[in-house]
Amino acid sequence: PTGFGAVGEWLGAWAGRVIDEEPALTRLDRQAGDGDFGTNMVAALDTLDLDALRTASSPERAFTAVSDAYLGHAGGTSGALFGVWFRRLAGAAGATAGSGPAGFTVADLARGARSGLDAITALGGAQPGDKTMIDALDPAVRALEEGVGNASSPATVLSSAADAAARGAESTAGITARRGRASYIGEAARGVIDPGALVMAWLFEEAARAA
Ligand code: ADP
Ligand code: MG
Ligand code: MG
Repeated sequence: PTGFGAVGEWLGAWAGRVIDEEPALTRLDRQAGDGDFGTNMVAALDTLDLDALRTASSPERAFTAVSDAYLGHAGGTSGALFGVWFRRLAGAAGATAGSGPAGFTVADLARGARSGLDAITALGGAQPGDKTMIDALDPAVRALEEGVGNASSPATVLSSAADAAARGAESTAGITARRGRASYIGEAARGVIDPGALVMAWLFEEAARAA
C-alpha cells in the first residue's frame, strides 16, 4: 500500500506533457535565458519510446532510461542536471530489492529526491532563491520528508509535494536570477517563471496524479 502507481506511467505522462509544452518552455527561456530550454528538453525526451517507458519492467529501469536520454542527448545546463537527478532516483529505486513496476514508495522517492537535490547542488552550486529548478525541488523534498516522517498516506505526501513544488516554481517569477543564464539579464527576468523549476513542478504534479 506504500507504492504509488507505476513509475513508468508517471514518467511517461510527465515526458509527454513537457514535449507538448515545448513552445511555452522555449518562450520562458527566451524571456529570461537564451531560448533553448524547450529544445534541450525535447532533444532528450524525444529519444525515449514513451510506450516502452510506460511499461518498463522496473522503476529503476524507467528512471535510468530518462537519465540516459538526458545525459546522452540534451545540451545545456539542464541536460546534465536532469540527467544526474534521474540517475539518483534510479539509485533509490534500485536500492529497494525485488520491487515490481509499482514497488517504488514515497519513502524511496523522498530518499532519491534528496540525493538528487544534493547532486544538482554539488554540480551547479545554486541555492534556493537563485531562480532555478532548486526553487521547486527544495520545498518538494522537504514536503516529501515531512510527509514520510508523519507516515501520511502516499496520496497525501505526493499532493503536498506537488503543491510545494508548484508554489516554489511560481515564486521564481518574483526573483531575479543569481545563477545560470537568467542572471546575465538581471531585472529583465523579473515576472518570468524559471522553466526548469516549472518542469520539476510538473514532475511532482504528475507523481501526485499517478498516486
Ligand atoms: P542553458 O542555461 O545552458 O541554456 P537550459 O536552458 O537547458 O540551459 O536550462 C536552463 C535551466 O537550468 C534553468 O531554467 C534553471 O532551472 C536550470 N539551471 C541553470 N543553472 C542552474 C544551476 N546552477 N543549478 C540548478 N539549476 C540551474
Ligand atoms: Mg537556455
Ligand atoms: Mg543554452
